[in-house]
Amino acid sequence: MDDRRIGIFSTSPVEVLLAAGLRPVDVNNAFIIAPDRLDLLDQAEAAGLPRTSCAWTRGLYAATLALGLSRILVVTDGDCSANRAMAELLRDQGVEVIEFRYPLADRSDAAVRSAMADLAAHLGTTLDAAEAVRRELAPLRADLERVDRLTWDEGRVSAEENHRWLVQSSDLGGDPVAYHNDLIAFIESASRRDADGEGPRLGLFGVPPALTDLHEAVDAAGARVVFNEVASDFAMIPPADSLGEQYSRYAFPYGIRARLTRALAEAERRGLEGWLIYDQSFCHHNLENPAVDRLLGDLPRLHLEGDTPGLVAERDRIRIEAFVRTLTQPGRSPIRAASSSSMSPALGLDLGSRFAKVAFRDRAGHEEVRIIDSMRFYRTWARRGAAGLVLDLPALLRDELGIRAPAGLLGVATGYGRHLDGLEGCSAVPEVHAHAAGAAAQVGSGEFLLADLGGQDTKGIRVRDGAVVDFVMNDRCAAGSGRYVENMALLLEMDLDEVLRHHADPVILSNVCATFGESEVVGFVVDGVPVERICAGILRSVVMRLLHLLGRMPDVRDLPLYLSGGLAKSPGLVCLLDIAWEGHVAALPRPRLSGALGCLELAALSSTH
Ligand code: SF4
Repeated sequence: MDDRRIGIFSTSPVEVLLAAGLRPVDVNNAFIIAPDRLDLLDQAEAAGLPRTSCAWTRGLYAATLALGLSRILVVTDGDCSANRAMAELLRDQGVEVIEFRYPLADRSDAAVRSAMADLAAHLGTTLDAAEAVRRELAPLRADLERVDRLTWDEGRVSAEENHRWLVQSSDLGGDPVAYHNDLIAFIESASRRDADGEGPRLGLFGVPPALTDLHEAVDAAGARVVFNEVASDFAMIPPADSLGEQYSRYAFPYGIRARLTRALAEAERRGLEGWLIYDQSFCHHNLENPAVDRLLGDLPRLHLEGDTPGLVAERDRIRIEAFVRTLTQPGRSPIRAASSSSMSPALGLDLGSRFAKVAFRDRAGHEEVRIIDSMRFYRTWARRGAAGLVLDLPALLRDELGIRAPAGLLGVATGYGRHLDGLEGCSAVPEVHAHAAGAAAQVGSGEFLLADLGGQDTKGIRVRDGAVVDFVMNDRCAAGSGRYVENMALLLEMDLDEVLRHHADPVILSNVCATFGESEVVGFVVDGVPVERICAGILRSVVMRLLHLLGRMPDVRDLPLYLSGGLAKSPGLVCLLDIAWEGHVAALPRPRLSGALGCLELAALSSTH
């Protein structure tokens, strides 16, 4: 075993470690590529680390022990707030822990040099020796900058490759010479590639994602990440003239404002068109989100959350696709046709988890609509084809509406899930745009905020000048969705419509977890609380979830708020929301059909372009 190894948990003064003859091992990198990384998380939980600590933290603990590291450098000022506790835990396991503190109160070259000199002395070396290492590494850092430029300026290095090289620079693979040789070979090869510069240019803001294929998912959606915020900060590029300059320029330790200042400058330099903001579950940095949303400028943003290492979930792929769509549509996603006078006949389909909503409009503008149980819809008019779902629209029109499919029929579908991939028989559009288009058509306006309260998810969509400019979606939890209220109605043995009526004097229920919420409801029933108050409490928790979601979008409080989806028909919910929003709140005239009607609008738009 190489006893010169020293584990690190974040970007640390690697030049000092190398000057001391140590071999840095970034435990983050070892954890995320470990084939048994999920087992490592289990081991950490078995050792008593709570499930409510972030997966990176648990992984670092278990990977440190699994790697047999006897020595760790932990940054206790200027990195993860869990690091002090981690230091204690690892000391208890017999690991030698060396602490390093960035001078948070004084970000000057001199203060940084002083902190590094202390570390150097502790490790038996000097700052001069570390400066000599810095000079040796300068060509390597210049090549890291070259990789970054090959991504954002020349389009020859993918976002994932960019992320991998920059993140791995934290420990330089433990062997700077071998790492640099590999880097040079990579650059030579990448420089010969054709430029691949299509799609909106995005920045990825946040800690390194546990979603292992996030960059590929963005590529697949037709966009490109050209700025990996934290990874490029970790890489300390371009080379600096001294260690004091290099480590005082490093923004991550110095808080969210330092990071945002750097990010805004890079957004301008790299011509960003939108932001992906990565939130790691249970990370203290999530508390910074209000500042991030407020200060990150006017560019559209999409928050994504990851927990344990793994692939991007289906719903997040859909969200990424919808987000990219908002950035790529001509004129920023127009959702309203100028005129309906020359429309082709169209069929709009909103394929929801429980119901398929169908809207047909003929050349004269006459409309027919149906809401069909999803199981019956798929059994009767859908089959699996070679490329994806095949819909038999003529049969659907004939069977359900008694209409013979007209010549030139335009079919447009939206819905939840990847079953819209490879769809045959009609074109597919993102849910966000379909719902926004349906709402715009119903209210006759292009300036509003829409809350779509669906069976499994909730969306907030901001429409400005007749285009989608921002949207948010609830994350993986079903609390606050239509299914949550249905489950509560079942629990109370009540008709759903009855539950949806009440708003007066609501009890306070957990608005976080549907399961805990059920336990609370049982408790209120046992205590003899009137069922009307419990129903109002259920709706209040939906409203609180919704307000939290809508609060992620800046500058929306003065907009009229329209509601669509199954829960929009709830008089109790509208009443509670009306009080909380302190502005104009109204359900759309046909809230459940909004997606299907929006598909008709988008069909009309496509027929007039
Ligand atoms: S993601 Fe957040 S909580 Fe987890 S290790 Fe990183 S900084 Fe700490």
